[in-house]
This record gives sequence, structure tokens and C-alpha cells, in this order.
Amino acid sequence: MEFETRAIHEGQEPDPATGAVTTPIYQTSTYAHEEVGQHKGYVYSRSGNPTRAALEQCLASLESAEHGFAFASGMAATTTVLHLVNPGDRVVCVNDVYGGTYRLFSKVLEPKGYEFTFLPAEEISRNLAPALDERTRLVWVETPTNPLLNVVDIRAAAEATHAVGAVCVVDNTFASPYLQRPLELGADIVVHSTTKYLGGHSDVIGGFAATTDPTIAERLAFLQNSLGTVPGPFDSWLVLRGLKTLAVRMERHCENARRIAEWLESHASVERVRYPGLASHPDHELAREQMSDFGGMLSFELAGSKEDALAVLRSTAIWQLAESLGGVESLIEHPGLMTHASTADSAFPVPENLIRLSVGIESADDLIADLEQALAAVPAAARS
Ligand SMILES: *Cc1c(COP(=O)(O)O)cnc(C)c1O
Repeated sequence: MEFETRAIHEGQEPDPATGAVTTPIYQTSTYAHEEVGQHKGYVYSRSGNPTRAALEQCLASLESAEHGFAFASGMAATTTVLHLVNPGDRVVCVNDVYGGTYRLFSKVLEPKGYEFTFLPAEEISRNLAPALDERTRLVWVETPTNPLLNVVDIRAAAEATHAVGAVCVVDNTFASPYLQRPLELGADIVVHSTTKYLGGHSDVIGGFAATTDPTIAERLAFLQNSLGTVPGPFDSWLVLRGLKTLAVRMERHCENARRIAEWLESHASVERVRYPGLASHPDHELAREQMSDFGGMLSFELAGSKEDALAVLRSTAIWQLAESLGGVESLIEHPGLMTHASTADSAFPVPENLIRLSVGIESADDLIADLEQALAAVPAAARS
């Protein structure tokens, strides 16, 4: 079956008890046994819950994976996956990674004796092998990256990772499985913040990991239950509901983002637009090869100062000033002061004049008109 059909039906047979077409929210912590050792497959909701199981089966299918695991947040998924490695092991990670991932790696795990090496996206794509050794157990890739929209070559990264027997993980939050399926390109584990495009309506926090490797799957199942990093039934249901419209939402996110990127590129107050769908993007060809379209996220550097950027953020009406991304509504933010403040003291802070857009599915005309009046806040003297 095709993606759109699986998104609506996979793991979601009508409820066996009532015929309910929509998977019920099984809001229960425990399950009655007929007698000791005899139950219907569910024992306790940290270990398993039917609403969560429906989400895990459906989303695993969308990622072309055999096994899926839902988590309480994207960071809960990341925390659980990082339990595959031990203190003393080395992890190689793309440097403009999600700010919270950078914080977990550098401020929580590094002090415990895990070793992290952060490399530019370009090096991971083109020259990863020399950076890997026998202590390297995991390579963490995000593509497109957040907030600079760099693109990492998943196939090349996975190949180099496998040459030293390590595990290649791809955070696929920005693209969603509708646009990019890392396991098909050779990655071992795909990770999501389902808070973003998969939930899609800015009303739930959730995470997900999927794999086809049976050894990794068995360990992740054990860790999910042992660490207790699970989502509740209602949150699982919200994400499952979001998946049903993922394909149509992504089509519009991509269409709107492309129009806005092209419009910004020709605007006098904009120095540089970062969107993989633009021919001017350094990895446009690579993005075209490994993604079916270019997504709803873009960032741009203003021809102006940090204060000018803040003035733009104050001036929008439809674009809400907020962290997060991937919802139906358009959001605008300043990564340097907001989502990526945790990288400010790192070797790779984000540019001060950088503005990030999560392009929603409103009318592109309205979104462009709102940006146009907001960009008028940039003094003409700052324009190139
Ligand atoms: C938001 C995000 C995360 C973290 O997910 P939470 O659901 O906020 O815990 C991880 N990676 C990326 C790319 C994200 O955008």
C-alpha cells in the first residue's frame, strides 16, 4: 500500500470490542488477567498500551521500519537511544544539531564520561571516515539541520559509520517520513520529535524511534520499558491522528516554503536565504536526491543587525513569535536567543541576524504580505 493509505490504516483496524473506526484512547494503566499467566497481550501500560501500539505500528511502517517505539518527547527518544552506548564510548555528531540534543550531549552525557565530537555537515557528508575510530559507537546525523538547513548525505554517513561497526542514527524531524526515509538510505535508527510535523497541530509533545535491526529493536524495547520514557495514551492518540493528514499537510508546507524562500531571496533586506529547495543552496542536488521535496523550514540572514532582526520579530501579525515548528500555523523565531541559546558558548554559535521560519499551511499570499510589512521595519541604510 502507498504511504497515504498506510498513514490512515496501518495498525488501525476497527476496534475489536466495539467496531469503533478510530483507534480508542485506552486510558488505563493496567489490564485484567483471566488467570495467572493468561492475558490478552497487555499487562501494564508502561510496557505496552493499545493506543501507543497503533501509533508505533503505523509510524514504523511510514519510516519503512520493522519496529517502532513511541516516547514522551523527542528528547526522551534521544535519551533512550543514547543508552545504547556507554561512558568511554565516542559519539560523532553533526554540529548544528537541535539545541536540546546539543545540551543533552554536552551538558549531561559528556560530564559522565561519554566522548562527543561535533563535525560540520559537509565533513560528515564528504569526509567522515578519518574522524571515526574503533571507540566510535554511534554517529548522530540531523538533516536538514536546525537552524542552518544544511543537508547531510545519509548514504555516505551510514557507509562510513558501518565501516567501523558503529550505529548511524538520523533525526528525521525536519523532513518527516513523507519527504525522507533514512532507513532506506542505510541508516540504522531513525528518530523523531513527533511534537513537530507528525503531530502537526502544536498540541502535543512526543518522540519516536524506529529500526529494522532486530538486535537494536530488542534493546530499544527493553530500554523503553526500563527507563520508562513512554508517552501516555492520549498523547499517542494525538500523534496517530496527526499522521492521517501528514501527506497533505507536507505538500502545502513545501509549496508555501518554496514560494516564501523565492520571495525572500529577491528582497533587498535579506542577505541570504537557507532553503534546500533553492538552486542557490550548496547542497540542493543532494537534497533532491535523498528527499522527495524540501520541507517547510527555512532560515534567512537579514541585511542588518540583531536589533533589526528583533524589530522584524516584533512586527509580524500572522507569524507567531514562538519556538517549535511543524504545526499548521506559521512561526518565526530568533535561533541565537531562543531555540539555540544553548549553543551560544560553543564553537559554532548561530549568526546573530538569523531568523528561522516554520512555514505553516495558511495562504502563502497572506504569509508573504505579513513578512513584507514586517521587513519594512529594517532601516533602509542596512539594506544591501
Ligand atoms: C524539537 C526537536 C527535538 C526535541 O524534541 P522534543 O519533542 O521537543 O523533546 C529533537 N530534534 C529536532 C530536530 C527537533 O526539532
